[in-house]
This record gives sequence, structure tokens and C-alpha cells, in this order.
Amino acid sequence: MSRKIVHVDMDAFYAAIEQRDDPRLRGRPVAVGGSGPRAVVATASYEARAFGIRSAMPMARARLLCPDLVVVPPRFETYRAESRRIRAILRRWSSLVEPLSLDEAYLDVTEPLPGPMPAL
Ligand SMILES: [Mg+2]
Repeated sequence: MSRKIVHVDMDAFYAAIEQRDDPRLRGRPVAVGGSGPRAVVATASYEARAFGIRSAMPMARARLLCPDLVVVPPRFETYRAESRRIRAILRRWSSLVEPLSLDEAYLDVTEPLPGPMPAL
């Protein structure tokens, strides 16, 4: 029998958390990352992506593409805590949750746990 695997990938995870926690960042182009000469973009908000800014891009290039870019230093403790909360939710649907990173996981839903919604 083939197995049913769900891939969960939270989009713009770090930037979304920053915009959630600081209303001034909402609707603005945000890049999470360092600000030194060799810094790169860890995550870009949707507003920043509209300027062509992507993860792993040098921050200096991102600032050229979008002069109004708001650069926010990462808060990995907060991202880890949110990741743990989300994994706890995912484990309501599957006993086999394999995290790939803070914002990505595989769920084996071949035999889903009984929950509020069936996994199809
Ligand atoms: Mg992601």
C-alpha cells in the first residue's frame, strides 16, 4: 500500500512572526536577517518579495532592490517556540511527524489519528 505523506511548509515564517508581533511591520517590506556587510536575507515578507527579494540573497542587494526595506534581526528563540507549538498541532493528526527545519515538516497520514478533521 502506498503511504500518504503531507509536506507542510510555512511560508515567510520568520517574517510572518515579526509582522504578527509588531503591527508597525504589517503591510511593509520586511527582511529578517543580519545587517553586516556579508549578511543575507533569511526570510522576506510577501511585500518584500514583490521587489524581487528572496531568501539567501545578500542583504546589500535586497536594500538596493527596495530602499524602504525594513531589516529585522532574527529572534530564533521565538521562531523555535512557534515551531514547537505548530508541531504540537501537527501531532494531533499524525504520530509520524518528521521536522525538516523550523518551518517545514513531513506528516505520514496513511493512518491518521482521529481528530477534528479527517486527513484525506
Ligand atoms: Mg518555508
